[in-house]
Amino acid sequence: MRPLHETTQALHCEPADGSDAHSEPIWLTSAYDFDSAEQASDRFSNRTPGNVYSRFTNPSVSNFEHRLAIMEKAEDAVATASGMGAYLALGMAYLRQGDEVLLGTGLFGSTSHLFRQYFSQFGVTCRSLPLDDTVAWGRAISSNTRMLIVETPGNPTMKVADIRALANLARNRGALLVIDNTVLTPANQNPLMLGADLVLHSAGKFIDGQGRCVGGALVGSLARLAPIRAILRSGGMSMSPFNAWVFSKSLETLPARMQIHEMNTQFVCHWLNQQPAVERVYYTGMRGRPDTPLIELQQRGHGALISVDIKGGQDTAWRFINALDLITRCTNIGDAKTMVTHPWSTTHCKYPPQEKLDSGISPGLVRFSIGLEHYGDIIADMEQALAIAFGKEKITA
Ligand SMILES: *Cc1c(COP(=O)(O)O)cnc(C)c1O
Repeated sequence: MRPLHETTQALHCEPADGSDAHSEPIWLTSAYDFDSAEQASDRFSNRTPGNVYSRFTNPSVSNFEHRLAIMEKAEDAVATASGMGAYLALGMAYLRQGDEVLLGTGLFGSTSHLFRQYFSQFGVTCRSLPLDDTVAWGRAISSNTRMLIVETPGNPTMKVADIRALANLARNRGALLVIDNTVLTPANQNPLMLGADLVLHSAGKFIDGQGRCVGGALVGSLARLAPIRAILRSGGMSMSPFNAWVFSKSLETLPARMQIHEMNTQFVCHWLNQQPAVERVYYTGMRGRPDTPLIELQQRGHGALISVDIKGGQDTAWRFINALDLITRCTNIGDAKTMVTHPWSTTHCKYPPQEKLDSGISPGLVRFSIGLEHYGDIIADMEQALAIAFGKEKITA
């Protein structure tokens, strides 16, 4: 059979379960019956494959892992209780006392907090480096570096890291390159194909797509994931079968949804870019970026996160946010509904002001996760809110 398009494959790649259900059933079970004492013993000691207990494996969770691995073009995936659970398992599996972790600037706040605040208790040191400055990473990497963790594009500044270049640096030093692919999703970027060792997802964002469940995953080769599976078995940050079932159904429509998310985002960006009240629009799909060739090399699409610098700083940014009607004030991303956030005072409030400014987060920065509404309604809401935010004052260029 000719290979299927990714959009079709996402809908049709569920493993056969022996039933004739057209939509896969959910396996809400914590335990499994064994045929014999011998079988129980064989399964417990990994001599034969099979389910033992749902902290270890569960058919609904395995289905989600199977589907996600196919979409990331990977050998395997391991589902976790949350995105942060995936980071915890990653650190537990791979970090030892004396190791150093290099973190890209603008990482999700809890990610940075987990490594700096908690892994430091076990003798792990962290350094933060500009996402888009490969030379700085080359200078910083040393024989103590165990892991490089990067989100690309970075949220909310939409800066892009060169995945291939970082993968080469990591490989030469025996370190692991981990890419958080939550923002672009496997529909738009496959970091393993560019040399990354592991891909991490927060599944409650675009993968879920409707803001219902919390979950996460790590994706990569069987060998890279083996220590992570082992930690889940003892550490218990495993995914709930119910959440796995929700995510599996959502993965079926992920590529199709991401096309509409992106179409809407392109229309919104184009409109925002023409508004005098808007200083700048940040999106990897914007024309005239110096890094467009790199973006075209590693991304198949641009996703649905955008940021805008509003003239007048925090005052006007807050007035704009408060005047939005249809668009909801919510720090989450990846919902079918359009959401707005003020990163300076919420998601990034724990960073020192200078560090925020250095990484491109200003008090006037407003971030949107563009949803699946008709784009005309999204733009109309932004238009009325901008008018209120700026009152009758003349907006000067
Ligand atoms: C939300 C998020 C996380 C954390 O995931 P949870 O599922 O909320 O634990 C990690 N990385 C990125 C980019 C995120 O957006």
